[in-house]
Amino acid sequence: MTPSVRASLGELSAGYFDLLVIGGGVTGAGIAREASLRGLKTALVTARDFGEGTSSRSSRLIHGGLRYLEQGRLHLVFEALRERKILLRLAPHLVRPLAFILPVFQGDRVPRWKVAAGLALYDVLGAGGNVRRHRTLGKRALLEAEPLLRERGLTGGGLYYDAQCDDARLTIAAVRAAIISGARAANHMRVTGLIRTVAGMTGAYLLDERTGESGEVRAHQVVNATGPWADLVRRLEDPRAEPLLRPTKGVHVVVRRDRIGHRHAIIFTSPVDGRVMFVLPWGEWSYIGTTDTDTSDPPDQVAADEEDVVYLLRSANSIFPGARLGPEDVITTWAGLRPLLAADPKAPASAISREHRIVRGAGGVLTIVGGKLTTWRSMAAELVDQVESVLGHEHRGRGRALSRTQPLPGGDAAVIDSFRAEGLDLGLLPEAVDLLLRLFGSETPAIYALCRERPGLVEPVHPRHPAIGGAVVQAVRRELALRVDDVLDRRLHLTTETADRGDAAIESVAALMAAELGWAPDFMAAEISHARAAALAGSRWRGLS
Ligand code: FAD
Repeated sequence: MTPSVRASLGELSAGYFDLLVIGGGVTGAGIAREASLRGLKTALVTARDFGEGTSSRSSRLIHGGLRYLEQGRLHLVFEALRERKILLRLAPHLVRPLAFILPVFQGDRVPRWKVAAGLALYDVLGAGGNVRRHRTLGKRALLEAEPLLRERGLTGGGLYYDAQCDDARLTIAAVRAAIISGARAANHMRVTGLIRTVAGMTGAYLLDERTGESGEVRAHQVVNATGPWADLVRRLEDPRAEPLLRPTKGVHVVVRRDRIGHRHAIIFTSPVDGRVMFVLPWGEWSYIGTTDTDTSDPPDQVAADEEDVVYLLRSANSIFPGARLGPEDVITTWAGLRPLLAADPKAPASAISREHRIVRGAGGVLTIVGGKLTTWRSMAAELVDQVESVLGHEHRGRGRALSRTQPLPGGDAAVIDSFRAEGLDLGLLPEAVDLLLRLFGSETPAIYALCRERPGLVEPVHPRHPAIGGAVVQAVRRELALRVDDVLDRRLHLTTETADRGDAAIESVAALMAAELGWAPDFMAAEISHARAAALAGSRWRGLS
């Protein structure tokens, strides 16, 4: 397997790239993958970790978006369902089919007949890419499927299929795909300014957040893919640039799944304010989301507050009254900013309703904002088309099909299942093997090899989570994890899959990383403190920090 090595400051400074992508969320990672698959010499840098922004704080759905049907935006649903089909194929370990129950109650904004028509249309728009066809259900059948749903006022509903995805690992997989195709990429590498020449912006000043060293990187074309930070980066190009974004905050809360007792993913209308919401299963956990509120919080500091938590619990309790969820049930929360397009009063309606927008700034920087996790690949293809036009790339369009067909690392579907027996033979517990296959897919044997070399790596790093030491070493060696919370949160998810938010694993993960990365004891102690603080971010609403 090709190692994925973080680009050093020296390496970035020495090269002249066709394309510099700023921002290592799913949008920037997708652009770097697309560009390098098409043969462009590409650099990708991101502040903090890959996916640490919005791309690890989503509802984790790869979906057409049923509510866009209501708004008549059929082309958006069609595009997203086409992308869903592609992603189920490119990364079957990270993007998995998910069955949804949609209950309809008396007085709901959308009546039962309209739900039935909408689900039929959803299947038509996803034709050829359907996970499975929907079914409409009467009240009794719906309660058989979800016995703990509120019976009062229930009229029936539907069962349909979409996909759930490991958002952070999808982002990291896209980064690694870019590296494998020749891109150079660095996390914890912040852009502090843009390099201006007579030709416009031809690069960026960099700060290596791990060493404190500064440097620069030069490129023919600069792309700003910094999601909710996009306006801040645009102002580095042009201090008078008009804001493109009107970000809104979206919060999820995590509770034990058995506290709700649901069997499927649930999509419903919150009786609190009539918004569409989800109760989503994630192993033994459930997450409830999401809020959608205007905020002026800086993107680095966005967090759930008590009002968000109360709203989400009240909404879930309204359809699962037996659960009686209270604040004490909340294990953790995550919050992100939707990089939504600001409505321009002068723009025609069609322009406002676009899901994403690509804007060329005064200095020639291409900024991409808006969009969804689901459509990252098609957004990247559109953006790289524009880059190729600007650069007059001699092989323009060559390799355009590759991003639709080339599996992401770990996505070789044909072999994933065959690795189960090998893991059990190594002495791993079935749940540890399942986890490895879910996280690493067809790259799992690389972890088995590590475990054969160092048998101690088969040990779990947390007493109540199946992640093993071998996965930590893999995350460092192959997935550019540099900090303890890079491993705990974005690569192995212990922060959202354990009742102590991964706390019991922090020291063992830090020790494994120290051995890999040559940390001195005081550096390791600082890393442990940082990881503890990061894990507490999801509980800040309780006033813990
Ligand atoms: P980000 O992921 O935020 O990445 C931007 C990156 O830029 C960050 O990592 C940041 O560190 C970096 N950066 C910022 N400043 C600098 C700098 N100066 N130098 C270098 N790097 C910098 N979409 C779906 O399809 N399905 C869903 O279920 C879904 N649910 C959602 C739920 C919520 C609550 C939210 C908020 C969004 C959801 N979305 C969903 C939308 C989706 O998550 C986002 O559209 C997507 O993740 C945005 O990715 P991005 O790469 O544009 O931004």
